[in-house]
This record gives sequence, C-alpha cells and structure tokens, in this order.
Amino acid sequence: MNIALIAHDEKKELMVQFCIAYCGVLSRHTICATGTTGTLVEEATGLKIQKFLGGRQGGDQQIISRISYDEIDMLLFFRDPLTAKPQESNDMNLLRLCDMHNIPVATNIATAEVLIHGLERGDLDWRNVLK
Ligand code: PGA
Repeated sequence: MNIALIAHDEKKELMVQFCIAYCGVLSRHTICATGTTGTLVEEATGLKIQKFLGGRQGGDQQIISRISYDEIDMLLFFRDPLTAKPQESNDMNLLRLCDMHNIPVATNIATAEVLIHGLERGDLDWRNVLK
C-alpha cells in the first residue's frame, strides 16, 4: 500500500512519535510525505520515504495529484486545528479528493491508530482489488 504522511508544524513531533511506534507496520508499505515531515520521520525511524516538496512549496499539491491518479491508499494528515494556515484551501481540497477517491484518511492520531491497525489486519486489502 502507498501511504502518504503530512503533518502541520505543531503536529510534526506527534507524527514522528506515531511513526516510531508503528515503524514495523509502516516498513512493509511504501511511504511518501511532504518535505519536512518526510525528513523528520526518516531521520527518526530509518524508514525509506519518498519526499515531495515542502508543504508550502507545493508538496501537498504533489500528494493531491497522486491521490487524483488513485496512487495513494491511505493518508495520515495530522492537522493543527488551532492555527490558521495560508494553505488552508489546499487542505480542504486534499480532503475533498480523498472523499472522491474513497481514500482512508486520518486527520488526528486517534483515527490514525484505528487505520494503522486496520491496515495490519488487512481491512484495506480491497484497495489492491481495485487496482
Ligand atoms: P512539510 O509540509 O512537511 O513540508 O512541513 C506540511 C505542511 O504544509 O505543514
């Protein structure tokens, strides 16, 4: 499965801790991420991550594009709900595309835990059938 990671600045440490905790599961899949998120997770876990541009430089758009081509099977997008972001409309578009393509998406760690356990159990195997 292709898993995409994005974390707003205030959630990056949480994303790193999450990926350390689930490194074993994640290592059996293909991971991509926006620039800074990917670099931090890669350094902390040793996971091989395809890194796109930084979010503000268009990395989120690159992930949107992959979702449009149905190339992403799961998105972990740790959002900061407290700070207004200049790229907020991109974030909404990202979630809209996930809904269009039925991509499982987590916007907080509680849902991410559920998705990662589901992934491990094979609950998302239907995405392979789609391909
Ligand atoms: P980043 O992008 O991982 O490059 O920081 C995410 C974001 O837009 O906050």
